Amino acid sequence: MTTSRTLTIIKPDAFGAGKAGKIIAHLEQDGFQVVAARVMRLTTAQAGEFYAVHNGRPFYAELVEFMTSGDCMPMILEKASAVVALREAIGATDPAEAAAGTVRKLYAESKGRNAIHASDSDQNAARESRFFFAETDCIRG
Ligand code: ADP
Repeated sequence: MTTSRTLTIIKPDAFGAGKAGKIIAHLEQDGFQVVAARVMRLTTAQAGEFYAVHNGRPFYAELVEFMTSGDCMPMILEKASAVVALREAIGATDPAEAAAGTVRKLYAESKGRNAIHASDSDQNAARESRFFFAETDCIRG
């Protein structure tokens, strides 16, 4: 099966609590390869733009505030059917509803502070990857 790529972010709750290493190890164990990574603190404008699809939802302001509250770690990951595989690996948005063994079940605090982002389609994976990375940031082109 051909590999594809998706975009993940270790969110400020998990990064700030020193869980990045465990989450990356979990994902590598699951067959994902990190092809690009950075550590950064999102500005309000960046977080607002990244989550623009949620503008107007009741949790939007809280989400932007949370995502700018500390450093985070965007990464591009590669695996066969990467988008679907990563959504499965992270589990449901609310850790209380996430399946056993998923990243959110293991490492998330709450529906808002839920440790990790994963793109929900190939189109969004490409768009979100361009948000954080240039082609030249990725290994093997
Ligand atoms: P997912 O990240 O699983 O794709 P959504 O796209 O629905 O979930 O929401 C984006 C992010 O917004 C979630 O990961 C979570 O951090 C936050 N969020 C979603 N719903 C709520 C909510 N009801 N209350 C607080 N935060 C929320």
